[in-house]
Amino acid sequence: MTRRSVALTVAILAAVAVLCGGMVGLPVMLFGQMQAEAAACELPSAPQASPVPSVGEWNSAQTTHATVIVSVGRQRRVAPRGYVIALAVAMQESTLRNLANSTVPESLDIPHDGVGSDHDSVGLFQQRPGWGSVRERMTPSYAAGKFYEALVGVDGWERMRLTDAAQAVQRSGTPEAYQKWEDDAEALAAQILGLPNIDDIGGGDPTAPCGADDLGPVPVGPGGWVQPIRATIVSPFGPRGGRLHAGVDLSRQDVRGDPIRAAASGVVEQVKCDWYTTCDRDGSTNQRGCGWYVDIRHPGDVVTRYCHMIRRPEVSIGQRATAGTVIGFVGSSGGSSGPHLHFEVHVDVPEGPYHANGANAVDPVAWMRERDAPLGPGT
Ligand SMILES: [Zn+2]
Repeated sequence: MTRRSVALTVAILAAVAVLCGGMVGLPVMLFGQMQAEAAACELPSAPQASPVPSVGEWNSAQTTHATVIVSVGRQRRVAPRGYVIALAVAMQESTLRNLANSTVPESLDIPHDGVGSDHDSVGLFQQRPGWGSVRERMTPSYAAGKFYEALVGVDGWERMRLTDAAQAVQRSGTPEAYQKWEDDAEALAAQILGLPNIDDIGGGDPTAPCGADDLGPVPVGPGGWVQPIRATIVSPFGPRGGRLHAGVDLSRQDVRGDPIRAAASGVVEQVKCDWYTTCDRDGSTNQRGCGWYVDIRHPGDVVTRYCHMIRRPEVSIGQRATAGTVIGFVGSSGGSSGPHLHFEVHVDVPEGPYHANGANAVDPVAWMRERDAPLGPGT
């Protein structure tokens, strides 16, 4: 490290003065929660209606409708999880065909791919008259737009089971019927977006605001590990104030609201904010605890932990995360004196939550360096 970079690091340390841990105290300040949303969202691409080639068992007409559904979602800046839900609904309702209805004479005069007879429902999403005119409901971009409009109004839709989110919009007589299409919908959405997997959207997560493709790709080391955030190590792993600082603190200027990524693929084991800590507001060094945090269990009994998020994380327990999945956003909840990520690595962690603790914590700096994903601001 050069003298200049040492000086810079010291300056950052002084400026950020980030520490976590400490005893119970009083919450101090509120914060503007929308900053996380400020992550640059690129301009969405325009809906595309020109025919596209068939994909797998879906013919050209069906994939063209699917492309419109995805494009409208992008235009409306719906998180990619929304495209998957919309596709699954259209697969279930119409097998991705724009259906007229034999009991709705007007619908038979409008271009259609088939004729259904369910009540007075028409179109890809089998929408009934409350959703718009017959012609509107049989216009795929309109039908998709109305679907997304309703979906994003469902509180917590990003974290629901697919069929629960779908049912909250569709109110179908067979509420479980959408679930079986999840894999097909994910595969088709990924193919339309030109990705091997929907989770590979720019190394990000389908539930991230604006789509994680807008957060930029992250390099993945040969062992499949990535930096959770690209930032300076402001407090190392090791003894601190008479106890073990079981992780490493990462920060830099304007880090608040930056996406935090899963360091490797695994299953989300814990998403929590304990009662004794501060959750949706900044904490302080007089507080204790992690604030909002996530634990991810990786193959080989390794668990990573991510603390002090700005608000409820973007993932839920049991969810699979790939390396780079956006799991939440940097904040300062809990025992924290300023916005930073407190990142822990635990090894030989017995099965089940609550087993990652100080006794099995290892130095994340050494761990990540050995996996070709060294922590730090990079070059
Ligand atoms: Zn810390």
